Amino acid sequence: MTADRGTPRATILVVDDDEAHRYAKVHTLRRAGFEVHEAARGMDALRLIAERPPRLVVLDVNLPDLSGWEVCRRLKREPETATIPVLQMSASYVTEADTVRALEGGADACLTEPIEPPVLIATVRALLRARRAEEELRDALAREQAARAAAEAASRTKDDFLATLSHELRSPLNAILSWVRLARTDRLDTEKQKHALEVIERNTRLQMRLIEELLDVSRIVSGKMRLELELVDVAPLVHTALESIRPLAEEKEIVVGTAIDPRVAPIAADAYRVQQVFVNLLSNAVKFTPPGGRVDVAVRDEDSHTVISIKDTGRGIAPAFLPHIFERFRQGDASTTRGAGGLGLGLAIVRHLVDLHGGSVAAESAGVDKGSTFTVHLPIAKAHTGRTQGAHAIALPRTSTEAPDLSGLRILLVDDEADAREAISFALQQYGARVRQSASVEQAIRLLEAEPPDMIISDIAMPGEDGYALVQRIRESSNADVGRLPIIALTAYSSLDDRQRIAKAGFDLQLAKPVEPGHLAAAVGRLVQRTRGA
Ligand code: ADP
Repeated sequence: MTADRGTPRATILVVDDDEAHRYAKVHTLRRAGFEVHEAARGMDALRLIAERPPRLVVLDVNLPDLSGWEVCRRLKREPETATIPVLQMSASYVTEADTVRALEGGADACLTEPIEPPVLIATVRALLRARRAEEELRDALAREQAARAAAEAASRTKDDFLATLSHELRSPLNAILSWVRLARTDRLDTEKQKHALEVIERNTRLQMRLIEELLDVSRIVSGKMRLELELVDVAPLVHTALESIRPLAEEKEIVVGTAIDPRVAPIAADAYRVQQVFVNLLSNAVKFTPPGGRVDVAVRDEDSHTVISIKDTGRGIAPAFLPHIFERFRQGDASTTRGAGGLGLGLAIVRHLVDLHGGSVAAESAGVDKGSTFTVHLPIAKAHTGRTQGAHAIALPRTSTEAPDLSGLRILLVDDEADAREAISFALQQYGARVRQSASVEQAIRLLEAEPPDMIISDIAMPGEDGYALVQRIRESSNADVGRLPIIALTAYSSLDDRQRIAKAGFDLQLAKPVEPGHLAAAVGRLVQRTRGA
């Protein structure tokens, strides 16, 4: 912005062929603090204005080449110079008709010479003030238009996102429904049946992932994403993430190279969330790399950070898209992205999770078809800066290969959803448990009073009395054996708040739905051992 007084000084061009008149005006304006340039001819004035537009022109009418009226007309005709105020002055064209002619020709004001210096200065200042007011108005308008355009773009992005969302949610459902219908025809041989179940499982997992992504984004937006920090070794998390993408990489014949330094120092992190970051970046690398390509994963310590880089030889990122890649709902070229599927939320979640860990994530690509590299920096835990030899891994849940034996174990299962009850009950029976089912808390209390089980597994959200009510009624029971019964909460709610509330309510263990049958049986087995030991 240019100030009209003070620094930087407003520049004014004085055009007059009469040297004495010109000198007087230049002198007056300079003394008033303006930076003044001068010209004696119309063409010179136009050239100077084009080279370096002044804030205002003081223009004599009587010039040797073009008249001042003509100079003014040309200035006002061109958009680049139309907004420069013109103060037309004359000693010889002083009639009312001359003034009308000047003003109608585009001049912003007219003065008759000779003129008192204070009048000249005040007129110039008034014209500059008017110009500045006009500019401020224009700027405000431009800002308002830009804000509106941004809002419209955001709303379009959301509309696109909703279209993508319904498409992405429907595709796995279509696959599941088609194969279920085929399976019901009884015409599938064993091989095809196996295939049908694989497709159904894969698509169900896909849909679960989409829903998890949506929930994560809603947690992020509402500021409810919280971390459970512990000392974590990065290398095992990367290995687990690598395992999860291996099937797709093999299917696409993508070579996955690794350079993982096993001695990287532990970080203070939420293991589940950090693993989610790696899984997201690795799945993208495989997803956006054509068959026969390559993905390279490197993990190393650099000063106070562990650096994880994931480099692929895939379709790369267009320079125009690169700055937006971590934004919500953003996907690269719509058509090819659609071929790849996804909601455009993964990277936004990645960035947020990495931020929450005090780290950073960056994307690089030399352009379309030139591959991409994503680099994550995570701060090393304070006590461990400087390389530690043989850092300890936290106890990540291990999947036991031994099938737990639940023979004869009496379990009371409480869940209002018949399908879920059926499936869990069947799974536990496969491990030898004897399961009784109850659809409500009321019924559960009746059943366990008639014949106490060894353990209870209960859903949390149920109509009427919920899982919290059940655990409270059991813990407050006058029958000490009932009061001590081990109870597992099995719930689809898994936010940190939910988990804390469940832990406080008196449950012995909580598992998130949907739970793998083997995982559930193993958890039940461990809890029984623990309570019997106690
Ligand atoms: P989604 O994969 O669900 O579309 P993401 O947030 O994970 O959403 O990614 C956003 C977009 O960033 C993708 O649609 C894709 O255009 C681009 N992208 C992400 N990872 C890569 C990669 N490794 N190579 C090329 N493009 C990528």
